[in-house]
Amino acid sequence: VSDEIDAVLSNLEIDNVRSVLLQFSDLEGKSKNVAIPTKQMKKALTDGISFDGSSIQGFARLEESDMLLRPDPSTYQIIPWSDEKFRAARFICDVYTTHGEPFAGDPRCILRTQIEKAAKLGYTFNVGPEMEFFLFRLIDGHASVNLQDHSGYFDQTPTDPGEDVRRDLVISLSEMGFNIEASHHEVAPSQHEIDFTYGDALGMADKVVTFKFAAKTLALRRGLHATFMPKPIFGINGSGMHVNCSLMKDGKNAFFDPNGDHQLSDTARHFIAGLLKHIDGITRIANPTVNSYKRLIPGYEAPVYVGWSALNRSALIRVPSSRGKSTRAELRSPDPTCNPYLTFAVMLAAGMDGVINKIEPPENIDKNIFRMTPAERAAEGIRCLPWNLQEANNALMQDELLCSVLGEHVVAQINRIGELEWADYSRAITDWEIKRYLPNY
Ligand code: ADP
Ligand code: MG
Ligand code: MG
Ligand code: MG
Ligand code: MG
Repeated sequence: VSDEIDAVLSNLEIDNVRSVLLQFSDLEGKSKNVAIPTKQMKKALTDGISFDGSSIQGFARLEESDMLLRPDPSTYQIIPWSDEKFRAARFICDVYTTHGEPFAGDPRCILRTQIEKAAKLGYTFNVGPEMEFFLFRLIDGHASVNLQDHSGYFDQTPTDPGEDVRRDLVISLSEMGFNIEASHHEVAPSQHEIDFTYGDALGMADKVVTFKFAAKTLALRRGLHATFMPKPIFGINGSGMHVNCSLMKDGKNAFFDPNGDHQLSDTARHFIAGLLKHIDGITRIANPTVNSYKRLIPGYEAPVYVGWSALNRSALIRVPSSRGKSTRAELRSPDPTCNPYLTFAVMLAAGMDGVINKIEPPENIDKNIFRMTPAERAAEGIRCLPWNLQEANNALMQDELLCSVLGEHVVAQINRIGELEWADYSRAITDWEIKRYLPNY
């Protein structure tokens, strides 16, 4: 251990790092950080850095609010956009209690527990998230929904500040260890997507958090606001975070079987079945805001109905056509407001429930579900995803497996946050109501 600490300290010196950001996530997936001067790093690595957990959303446990941040040495990255003369670096931290135990409310710890469980059965969980976001104009320094461009899917607009942000992001993220596969303009005006190569779920959750931090910072530097809000504008596509996933065993993709139906293995089918079985509860975690549900409506490439398909893109779970190493299931409902640690944790647990108990998935739906009539859908037993945050919250509370994955503390906090958010929203007087009722009543 002390060798590892020495290696970190010497890297900090070689890289001339002057300040270090210690990052972690609250339950809502918001990135938190405390900055320390480099000379405090030795203490941080040996004893941890203490902080008051009671002020962090979802951490509140007043009787023992002091907590410790322990930087994970493997997450060391120089922040590429920091000033060369005042180099900053970051570490992602695990949260511990002052008794030296992992804190039960730390999302990273919850994911790690599920990863270790799957590892005992020989499986590694690989995920590839597709990050969509909007770049809007800042008006007098404030975020707005004013469009930056009016381009569409794959459009090229060489003189656009939005394109510049995307290029800055690709360069900076590459320097931070991302293997960027593609970046392109998305369907909606001012909407973009950046894809990076899949990897183990813990590393990828760290990357999602890093991605959002980088996007927000680099957009701001060019006078734009990067937002991961799922549906900022009515009538145009919202932003999703499709999660491509697969299991690896003995160095091979365990979802691939050249002789299986659709060349899918039993493991793949069972994993998909587990995801479908627990999807209502997963939705509370993967779609955690009131606004999330305004994206999950027909007509905008977002999923609405519960089912899987090897052919059509409208399905909740799509099995893309590539096989071999790239055999994967794409869960298309999550949006980028989700906490990636918790989302990957519940996805893994749900999928493993299917694998362990050999659950069979329903018949795959190779028709366009959106074009079916409600009667046709009903005849095939196709249900809808939860309609709103309250429904999804209730579904999670009834899902024993997912509740046990999250643990009592987190379930109570998520329930509290969900109910408060729903109550607050329900009391708001919206523009829709004013337009609808004011002239007529
Ligand atoms: P789409 O066709 O849905 O737009 P993209 O090309 O944007 O797909 O993204 C595909 C994602 O799937 C990438 O992040 C890629 O690394 C990831 N991926 C590829 N193979 C696997 C795999 N075996 N397991 C998990 N993710 C994978
Ligand atoms: Mg994509
Ligand atoms: Mg793509
Ligand atoms: Mg996309
Ligand atoms: Mg996709």
